[in-house]
Amino acid sequence: MERYSIINDKNPREIVLLRGKGCIWRQCTFCDYHLDSGNSEEENYRLNSEVLAKVKGMYGRLEAINSGSFCELDQKTLNLITNICIEKKINTLHFESHIIYKNQAVKAKKELAEKGIRLIIKTGVETFDKEYREHIMKKGFGLASPQEIAEYANEVCLLFGLSGQTEQSMLSDIETGLQYFDRVCVNIMNENSTKIKPDSAVINIFAEKIAPLYTDNDRVDILMDNLDFGVGTKVQEVSGNV
Ligand code: SF4
Repeated sequence: MERYSIINDKNPREIVLLRGKGCIWRQCTFCDYHLDSGNSEEENYRLNSEVLAKVKGMYGRLEAINSGSFCELDQKTLNLITNICIEKKINTLHFESHIIYKNQAVKAKKELAEKGIRLIIKTGVETFDKEYREHIMKKGFGLASPQEIAEYANEVCLLFGLSGQTEQSMLSDIETGLQYFDRVCVNIMNENSTKIKPDSAVINIFAEKIAPLYTDNDRVDILMDNLDFGVGTKVQEVSGNV
């Protein structure tokens, strides 16, 4: 599995895919992302150290994702990330976090800010349609509004390509994301081991009518394939569904 990559275009940064103890939520109906996890903190740390050794400090920005939320990484890995940021003069660090860890995310932002590192939190809200999000996707965000989510997250991921989504719903999600958050990352559903399958008609609507509107928007990433950030494997999601 590829665990290190460099993103050179929009929002340039280095990105690493680390391994933690696994997503605490694990309920999202479309996700097998959490399968990349391990119970041994020592083994995870050993793997993560090897991956983090590749970080060069390019662009002064590092995105460190794992198959879940940053709080599920072991403490030694978290310390190593902080030290690498300081050593390599990385002033902006990106983590992913589920809303379950809202308080820890806010705390981590404050602690890292004291070390001169800006922590950006990305969260996988997937859609702002609460009914769809909680009953179809089972995201575990409850009734959280965009404003409440923005209290801990700077960026959101959206998941498109599922049955029931429409041109209007997808447009509305992107526009809401841009209204309340710094950046929006659109992930298109890829086939995986869950029962939820990509809906090709919905994906075609997105590709033909919506994607062209945002291709040149620096605040919008579009991942048609879940390997588009250069890390992960074909059998799992790599980014943005936490
Ligand atoms: S999408 Fe994220 S929160 Fe949901 S089960 Fe997968 S890893 Fe966990």
